[in-house]
Formats: sequence, C-alpha cells, structure tokens
Amino acid sequence: MSETIFSKIIKREIPADIVYEDDLCLAFKDMNPQAPLHILLIPKTPIEKIADAALTQQSLLGHLLLQTGKIAKQEGYDAFRLVMNNGADAGQTVFHLHIHILAGRPFDWPAG
Ligand code: 5GP
Repeated sequence: MSETIFSKIIKREIPADIVYEDDLCLAFKDMNPQAPLHILLIPKTPIEKIADAALTQQSLLGHLLLQTGKIAKQEGYDAFRLVMNNGADAGQTVFHLHIHILAGRPFDWPAG
C-alpha cells in the first residue's frame, strides 16, 4: 500500500489536531469538518479500505469501533454518526481505512 497523508500524520510528518491515540489507532480532527464534531479514527497499521481488511484484523476493527463511543463522549457527545467510505465510487478520497465520527447537528436518513 502506498503512503498516504494519514500515514504521514501517524509519523508526525504533517500536523493534525490529535484527540486520541493508543497502540493501535489514532484519532484527529478532520481538516474540512462536516459537523461541529468531525473526527477521523484510523488504525496505525495501513489498510486501504474496510473491504481489504483480513480476518486476522478482526480484533483491530472491533477495537476501532469500541473507541468511537469513547472518543465522542470525550469530546462531549453521546449521539453521533459513523461513516466509512469504501472505494472511490463511495466517496473515499484517502486510501487508509478511516471511520468518520460526526456529531453536533441533525443527520438526514437515508444518508446522502
Ligand atoms: P474520505 O473522503 O476518504 O472518506 O475522507 C477523507 C477525509 O480526510 C476528508 O473528510 C478530508 O477532509 C480529510 N482529510 C484529507 N486530508 C487531510 C489532512 O491532511 N488532515 C486532516 N486532518 N484531514 C484530512
């Protein structure tokens, strides 16, 4: 997998507003927020997109999901929306798996 902007953020080669970090993942504010809270949560290990994740990464993926609620709460929100874009046709622009954590405004359903 080629280097992405997110691997550079992990390596601190470019700055980001980091709100959470542990051995497995990093969470930082989206540079172009779509809601009052817009966090990107990424695994430190590079996986291009969710469809490329392996069975051996099951616990890592579970870890990411479990962190979303903790991060939202830490930032002051109980209600939030999670978004994962898988592939360019679904709107993915950075090919390092990430979960968008959005909160602080009403969200339409079905999602746009
Ligand atoms: P995607 O469209 O791939 O699901 O989401 C990529 C997200 O990364 C977008 O919301 C975009 O604003 C954000 N993003 C792209 N480059 C950077 C960056 O250098 N720093 C930060 N903080 N966010 C970025």
